Amino acid sequence: MLLQVDNVSVAYGAVEALKGVSLSVFGAEIVAVLGANGAGKTTLLKAISGLVPVKSGAILYEGRKLHELPLHLIARMGVVHIPEGRRVFATLTVEENLNLGGYGCPKEEVQKAKEWVFQLFPILRERRRQLAGTLSGGEQQMLAIGRGLMRSPKLMLLDEPSLGLASLLVDQVFATIVQINKDGVPILIVEQNARKALSIADQAHILEVGRVVLSGPARDLAADPRVREAYLGGATHERRRRAKESRATG
Ligand code: ATP
Repeated sequence: MLLQVDNVSVAYGAVEALKGVSLSVFGAEIVAVLGANGAGKTTLLKAISGLVPVKSGAILYEGRKLHELPLHLIARMGVVHIPEGRRVFATLTVEENLNLGGYGCPKEEVQKAKEWVFQLFPILRERRRQLAGTLSGGEQQMLAIGRGLMRSPKLMLLDEPSLGLASLLVDQVFATIVQINKDGVPILIVEQNARKALSIADQAHILEVGRVVLSGPARDLAADPRVREAYLGGATHERRRRAKESRATG
């Protein structure tokens, strides 16, 4: 087993964001964690990559206790976290962003990784000399993923890559995620876009207010009436979507 999250709880003061969450990533698979706003998805990824402390439970990676290790050691073990919101260095070029991603790695590895990123995202090769801040939202998401790939991840943690992207771009980004996985990288992805995430995942888990309420093969979850109702276009899903839309339009 590659990653085992075992009965993990995380709290921000009085707010219990994760309450006894368990899940695993076995090998080169895609595991999706789905949930609404505030379910605890980002917190789960932060706990794995060492950005927030685990209150109880354990996180094992290749048998080692990640929850006892500092951030930089976790990163050095090949756990790469791509945060939500496409954080790129706006005033640096595409290529400079990628080089920073590979900072400290041997030169040949940086070149090899960059070639891999350019193959996955040909548009980044075309725009290599352009400032990252001038890229479209979709291209910035690609660059954020590409920068993470510069460290040749052994496990990639992806936080809501679909956020704020038009559906055509979401399709493109997800197709590349599948390709990255085919290239041998295990992926743990958290998403609100349940339909899209279930379409690429092997295993999936539903997170609701800090607890895993449903787990199984992604195919089974996509067919589960409870998931269909709450996350795939049922009445509850529609109510949530409309509420979010009206919040966004003010
Ligand atoms: P979103 O889709 O909005 O990113 P999420 O599923 O990723 O949501 P989290 O961001 O993990 O959810 O948040 C889980 C809970 O923890 C929420 O109730 C949130 O308000 C709370 N929370 C998150 N970060 C903090 C923080 N730094 N301080 C206090 N509470 C926090």
